[in-house]
Amino acid sequence: MLQCRNLGAAYGDIVALRGIDLEVHAGEAVALIGVNGAGKTTLLRAISGLLPTTGELAYDGRPLDTLPIQRRVKAGIAHVPEGRRIFPGLTVKENLEVGSSVRGRGTSDDFERVYDLFPRLKERIGQLGWSLSGGEQQMLAIGRALMARPRLLLLDEPSLGLAPRLAEEVYARIACINEGGMTVLLVEQNTVLALGVANRGYVIENGSIVLTDTAEALRLHPRVRDAYLGR
Ligand code: ATP
Repeated sequence: MLQCRNLGAAYGDIVALRGIDLEVHAGEAVALIGVNGAGKTTLLRAISGLLPTTGELAYDGRPLDTLPIQRRVKAGIAHVPEGRRIFPGLTVKENLEVGSSVRGRGTSDDFERVYDLFPRLKERIGQLGWSLSGGEQQMLAIGRALMARPRLLLLDEPSLGLAPRLAEEVYARIACINEGGMTVLLVEQNTVLALGVANRGYVIENGSIVLTDTAEALRLHPRVRDAYLGR
């Protein structure tokens, strides 16, 4: 579904990604693991069109790098950014409505799908974004992305800033979304959670992929165990 070949990206003189080869197949959940500043966020931003890239980037076998952001969303790529970025002055329902705006108005089926996944959002339907807890804001950010009816969901550190129990709850929902057939590419510092839902993973260090394997094999890999699982 998604192919990166020798992908590069930079912020001015600062090279953030170099020589990235990465694939995501339809139906997979793929984790990108790395420490602060490794380039995880930059890779998601490159895929969703927030940053110019070099090398090849293809989606459904067609070049993606020439498509502007809105066209990428319409093609089925939805990005849940780091730090959630929900609209604090809009209600839960209005935030969700923004997610569907790329296609027109959200249908009742769209809303129900999100509320089935996150019943807590339904209970807080008229509440303003700023007043939600961190976990609820993360659920809303994911729900808002789902309103665009994506085929590929990009998730940037969905566990960031959440208490362990809430982070697990959010990850259980991500697993449900993937089991429902949606392809997921997620970026995480919490390697245990990420490899818990992923089928495969990539380890990124200093802007380059240094290791890729099945989630199971990565969990057992000495480099991952020492550097990312703290064992
Ligand atoms: P984190 O978990 O902290 O978000 P990350 O793995 O997502 O880390 P990136 O945010 O992708 O890392 O950053 C990769 C590199 O690019 C870092 O060296 C960072 O300092 C640099 N960088 C990121 N954003 C910018 C920017 N807007 N301007 C300049 N350099 C940037």
